[in-house]
Amino acid sequence: MHRVLSMDATLAPRDPRAPGQFGHPVAVPDDKQEEAKSRWKEGNFNVYLSDLIPVDRAITDTRPAGCSEQQVHDDLPSTSIIMCFVDEVWSTLLRSVHSVLGRSPPHLVQEIILVDDFSTKEHLKEQLDAYMSRFPKVKILRLRERHGLIRARLAGAQVATGAVLTFLDSHVECNVGWLEPLLERVRLRRTKVACPVIEVISDKDMSYMTVDNFQRGIFTWPMNFGWRQIPQEVIEKNKIKETDIIRCPVMAGGLFSIEKKYFSELGMYDPGLDVWGGENMELSFKVWMCGGEIEIVPCSRVGHIFRNDNPYSFPKERVRTVERNLARVAEVWLDEYKELFYGHAYHLLLSAVDVGDLRPQSRLREQLRCKTFRWYLQNVYPDLEAPLVKASGLLMNVALAGCIAVEGTTLAFRECDVNNPNQKFNYTWLRLVQHGELCLAPAGVLGAVGLRRCQGRSRSLAWLHRSLAAAQPGLAEHLISEQQQQQPPGPACLEAAPSRRALRVKRCDPGNPHQKWRFGRYHAD
Ligand code: UDP
Ligand code: MN
Repeated sequence: MHRVLSMDATLAPRDPRAPGQFGHPVAVPDDKQEEAKSRWKEGNFNVYLSDLIPVDRAITDTRPAGCSEQQVHDDLPSTSIIMCFVDEVWSTLLRSVHSVLGRSPPHLVQEIILVDDFSTKEHLKEQLDAYMSRFPKVKILRLRERHGLIRARLAGAQVATGAVLTFLDSHVECNVGWLEPLLERVRLRRTKVACPVIEVISDKDMSYMTVDNFQRGIFTWPMNFGWRQIPQEVIEKNKIKETDIIRCPVMAGGLFSIEKKYFSELGMYDPGLDVWGGENMELSFKVWMCGGEIEIVPCSRVGHIFRNDNPYSFPKERVRTVERNLARVAEVWLDEYKELFYGHAYHLLLSAVDVGDLRPQSRLREQLRCKTFRWYLQNVYPDLEAPLVKASGLLMNVALAGCIAVEGTTLAFRECDVNNPNQKFNYTWLRLVQHGELCLAPAGVLGAVGLRRCQGRSRSLAWLHRSLAAAQPGLAEHLISEQQQQQPPGPACLEAAPSRRALRVKRCDPGNPHQKWRFGRYHAD
């Protein structure tokens, strides 16, 4: 083994007074404000400043203490670096490439594959070919039509010859010693997916900024990626050090190393995913559920320009594209938990997005004998709140303290009895009041209520309650039917008739306690 190499080669000796040198912030001169402003949209960051900064500038070595003394194996696998871009700014693309060339041990870089995802900018054609021709390791793969990030990465992976694939964005700066610690993890176990700590290159002043340690990649419903700090007490109790590997429920997606053969065994990315978004969820679930691990390697650090908006166009609308991708991932990987996804993104259920053919992905999951999403939640992400239903137990009327009971295929209103399974209901994420296969629903006859076979996508079976009903003043405890009302107009609520102790839907009345209901237990708001 040897001590990790902290190399930092440059094209020429560095000028300490150059703008942005050492990762310092740069200010736009007063007489250049207009120019800087007008060039912002070329990349949705300060393109003017990026062009001023040396393409091989120095940045602060932000690794935690101890990293530079760490040992790695002499026989690390070599990697293909895959960088996809569409209309990337010239200077940031160059800086990305130079940071790889200058700060990676040459014998570990098999090649750098620049995948041009059908860019339109002139500088990315012959000018780029000419510039890169002096670096034999840099190869440019030109796609003949816009593939989108996901399929562009697949195209890069297809031609890669290294044992490991390392994906990077086209506006990054790899810090000293970034590569070996990643490859060390993959060498340790081929099913480890290793991610660097992603640091921040300011979109405004181009300064290189470090980030807090102990961050995990997580998601919240409906599958929104985010970072979450490991709680201080957990760090102390487990004596976690700044240099310790962090296991991540999900990866950010842009920057990681994965063994090429393993990536291919996993079916790479679902090729049915479009353009951008959700692919990090797909790969994260796939890796964890099918026997691998996702790790953040604190001794590997790469800066990335975070932008408020994508500077390129989406072939279809951006939000719709991402949502469709996420729905695909939910359908393939989430099992019964996909109701939580749809419950938090209910409009997707109603619009019935066409997610395309899922069979190849489901087959792949079977062939790989992947574990269940429940296993993932219990073992990888136990701190995610994921109750399978919103509420459960008896459904009690507040005024009468009686409960709804299922008798055969009809409904009755009875004394509450916690031991009677026929009085147990679930209030589901799909907004159903459900007992087994049967769901509470306004019946055909005016004002009547009955049981119907449950159907998650049917709005006529849905009821609003608690947080969902709270938009309507005074109705939070009510059960508001989502069925379109003919007569009477306005929202209709479930009511236990005071005299006949029968159930019906009536026009919602905030003050009427016969329309207020409580489930035995609430699992989510
Ligand atoms: N990209 C691409 N084709 C696309 C969209 C993105 O090649 O259709 C590239 C883009 O140039 C960048 C990487 O994929 O290098 C990730 O995209 P982006 O930086 O916009 O994602 P973010 O970092 O904002 O998540
Ligand atoms: Mn990016």
